[in-house]
Amino acid sequence: MKYVCISCNAEITPREHATRFLCPNCGKVEIVRCEKCRKLSNPYKCPECGFEGP
Ligand SMILES: [Zn+2]
Ligand SMILES: [Zn+2]
Repeated sequence: MKYVCISCNAEITPREHATRFLCPNCGKVEIVRCEKCRKLSNPYKCPECGFEGP
Protein backbone atom coordinates (compact mmCIF):
# COMPACT_ATOMS: atom_id res chain seq x y z
CA MET A 1 0.00 0.00 0.00
CA LYS A 2 1.17 3.48 -0.85
CA TYR A 3 1.17 6.30 1.65
CA VAL A 4 1.21 9.95 0.79
CA CYS A 5 2.08 12.74 3.17
CA ILE A 6 -1.07 14.69 4.01
CA SER A 7 0.82 17.97 4.26
CA CYS A 8 3.04 17.99 1.15
CA ASN A 9 1.60 15.07 -0.89
CA ALA A 10 5.00 13.46 -1.17
CA GLU A 11 5.05 9.71 -1.45
CA ILE A 12 6.33 8.04 1.69
CA THR A 13 9.26 5.76 1.10
CA PRO A 14 9.50 2.58 3.21
CA ARG A 15 12.79 3.67 4.78
CA GLU A 16 11.42 7.02 5.84
CA HIS A 17 10.41 7.64 9.43
CA ALA A 18 6.95 8.81 8.61
CA THR A 19 4.29 9.20 11.23
CA ARG A 20 0.92 7.49 10.91
CA PHE A 21 -1.92 8.04 13.29
CA LEU A 22 -5.68 8.23 13.26
CA CYS A 23 -7.23 11.67 13.25
CA PRO A 24 -7.41 12.75 16.91
CA ASN A 25 -10.78 14.34 16.31
CA CYS A 26 -12.85 11.82 14.33
CA GLY A 27 -10.63 8.73 14.45
CA LYS A 28 -11.76 7.72 10.95
CA VAL A 29 -8.89 8.88 8.79
CA GLU A 30 -5.31 7.76 9.00
CA ILE A 31 -3.11 10.83 8.90
CA VAL A 32 0.29 10.25 7.30
CA ARG A 33 3.07 12.74 7.60
CA CYS A 34 6.55 12.50 6.18
CA GLU A 35 9.65 13.04 8.26
CA LYS A 36 10.25 16.46 6.76
CA CYS A 37 6.79 17.79 7.57
CA ARG A 38 6.98 16.39 11.06
CA LYS A 39 10.26 18.20 11.69
CA LEU A 40 8.94 21.42 10.21
CA SER A 41 5.64 21.02 12.06
CA ASN A 42 3.74 21.61 8.86
CA PRO A 43 0.00 21.74 9.46
CA TYR A 44 -2.35 19.00 8.31
CA LYS A 45 -6.05 18.90 7.77
CA CYS A 46 -8.26 15.88 8.16
CA PRO A 47 -10.20 15.29 4.92
CA GLU A 48 -13.08 13.75 6.85
CA CYS A 49 -13.83 16.26 9.61
CA GLY A 50 -11.64 19.25 8.73
CA PHE A 51 -9.62 19.06 11.92
CA GLU A 52 -6.37 20.95 11.63
CA GLY A 53 -3.35 20.19 13.73
CA PRO A 54 0.38 20.58 13.95
ZN1 LIG B 1 5.35 15.93 3.92
ZN1 LIG C 1 -10.91 13.77 11.34
